[in-house]
Amino acid sequence: MTQAATAMVLLSGGQDSAACLGWALSRFDTVETMGLSYGQRHDVELDCRRAVRERTAALGAEWRARLGADHVVDVSSLAGLGDTALTSDAAIRLQDDGLPSTFVPGRNLVFLTYAAALAYRRAIDHIVIGVCETDYSGYPDCRDDAIKAMQLALNLGMARRFVLHTPLMWLDKGQTWALIHELGGHDFVELVAEYSHTCYRGERGQRHPWGYGCGECPACELRAGGWQRFQEGGVELPD
Ligand code: ZN
Repeated sequence: MTQAATAMVLLSGGQDSAACLGWALSRFDTVETMGLSYGQRHDVELDCRRAVRERTAALGAEWRARLGADHVVDVSSLAGLGDTALTSDAAIRLQDDGLPSTFVPGRNLVFLTYAAALAYRRAIDHIVIGVCETDYSGYPDCRDDAIKAMQLALNLGMARRFVLHTPLMWLDKGQTWALIHELGGHDFVELVAEYSHTCYRGERGQRHPWGYGCGECPACELRAGGWQRFQEGGVELPD
């Protein structure tokens, strides 16, 4: 199914956003991408997103023809709002409230507001974000209710009819690999493993079957566990 429309994909360079890029390229006539620089202590994700963007489009002539402009927006002032593990040298740990110390409060709400402001200017109605509440990392702004509320707030506040798409919302990480395979086959799976980046510590030293990373942080554990289930077979996508 292709909609005669343009989508804006929030592309961080991580596995989930790479899957969203493929999903959008399979459905929309034109796909623009938006990345955010928010004072990460490592720029590896921003390097990865360039590779993911270019190589994903190169998987096929149709996808290449659909890939539109890229936008990188500086939201580095977000880093000043909290001393978190992603934006300073604080150790990654679980806080007393059960949230990882990588949590930047309301980060996705800020990102979606920037995405909508950009989409408004470019007359784009569809916004795609790779949030997921199934393999729940403790980020409340990844929840379906938060995204639905945000869609309503953006539409009321900007007098538009944005549709926020969350193709991964109800998929676990094994199913995300299965979706990547369904969208682009083995080549897309290998591309995502090789070029996307999810590790909280920003490590790209060791190549595991599922990609690069420290192998120990919560993000690496989720990615490795999903890969394991995907490789064992029998992972099914919901209808
Ligand atoms: Zn890691």
